[in-house]
Amino acid sequence: MLMDDITTQEQTIVKKKKKRAFISAKDCLGCKNCYLNCRRKVIKHKKSFIGGYCFVNEEECIGCGNCLKMCLNNCITLREVNTNN
Ligand code: SF4
Ligand code: SF4
Repeated sequence: MLMDDITTQEQTIVKKKKKRAFISAKDCLGCKNCYLNCRRKVIKHKKSFIGGYCFVNEEECIGCGNCLKMCLNNCITLREVNTNN
């Protein structure tokens, strides 16, 4: 998704926070709570032989932090990233 597709408020969040969600794959239970609750739909789920895990497309994450609240296993963190915004 392009920057033009997101709202002004979301663009402000992107510029202000400069953070992106990161999921620890080794701790992820694959429950999809984050996947189902990311309004930007930038969390993907990958199946594996032990059930699966989720990961974030950091290019499109706006760092809103909503997924952190949804994770019952506390395996999502917000990390500072370098952006050009
Ligand atoms: S921080 Fe927000 S946009 Fe980024 S993955 Fe989590 S819920 Fe989605
Ligand atoms: S909510 Fe947490 S445990 Fe569940 S899939 Fe997302 S990162 Fe994994």
